[in-house]
Amino acid sequence: MVPLDEMPMTPHTRPGRIEIVAGVMFSGKSEELIRRVRRALIAKHRVRVFKSHLDERYEGVYRVSSHTGVSVEAEPIDRAEEILRAIGDADDIDVVAVDEVQFLDAGIVEVATHLAERGVRVILTGTDTDFRGEPFGMMGHLMAIAEEVTKLQAICVVCGDLACRNQRLVNGMPARWDMPVVMVGGSESYEARCRRCFRIPRHDEDQVALL
Ligand SMILES: [Zn+2]
Repeated sequence: MVPLDEMPMTPHTRPGRIEIVAGVMFSGKSEELIRRVRRALIAKHRVRVFKSHLDERYEGVYRVSSHTGVSVEAEPIDRAEEILRAIGDADDIDVVAVDEVQFLDAGIVEVATHLAERGVRVILTGTDTDFRGEPFGMMGHLMAIAEEVTKLQAICVVCGDLACRNQRLVNGMPARWDMPVVMVGGSESYEARCRRCFRIPRHDEDQVALL
C-alpha cells in the first residue's frame, strides 16, 4: 500500500472542506471572504465566487464588496442549485466561495456537502442571526456541519462593546418582533449592537418605553 503522504494529489483525492465565516452586519465577513479568495488566487487555485441576489449593496450583484471598499468578482445566484449548474461537472475547481448565504434556500446544505465531498474547499459567509437574534436561514445548520467556523463580531454603536446582534431600525425606532425577516423596499436601517443594547419589542409592548 502507498503511504498517504506519497499519494498524488489529483482532483479526486484532494481533501474538501467547508469553512464558515459568520457574524453580524459590519463585522468584516465580506472582507474576510475577499482575503481568503485573494490568497487562494495567489496560490493559483481555481476559484469561483457566488453571491446571493438579494444583496445589492455597493457595486451591485456582480461583486463581493467590503465596507472598506475592496472587492472581487462574483456571480449572482437566487437559488443554491445554481452553484452546481454554473460549475457543471468541472473537476478543475479548487475553491467555491459564496457570500450572503443566509438568503439562500435549504438546498445550500446539500450543495456545500456535495462540493466538499468532491474535494472542493467551500467558503461560505453569512449573517448568522436575523433581526430577532435568531438563526438566519440555513446558517445554524451550515455552522454545525462545517470543518471550521469563524465567528466575527462588530462594535456596538451604542456602548462600544463587542456586537453580536443586528438591530433593525424602522424610521429610527427598534423594529418589532413580528415584522418579516426580509423586508423588501422598506425604509429600514441596521446597527450593530451588543446583547445588552439590542432591542426587539414584542407586538404588545410600547416601543417608546424600551428606548
Ligand atoms: Zn452595547
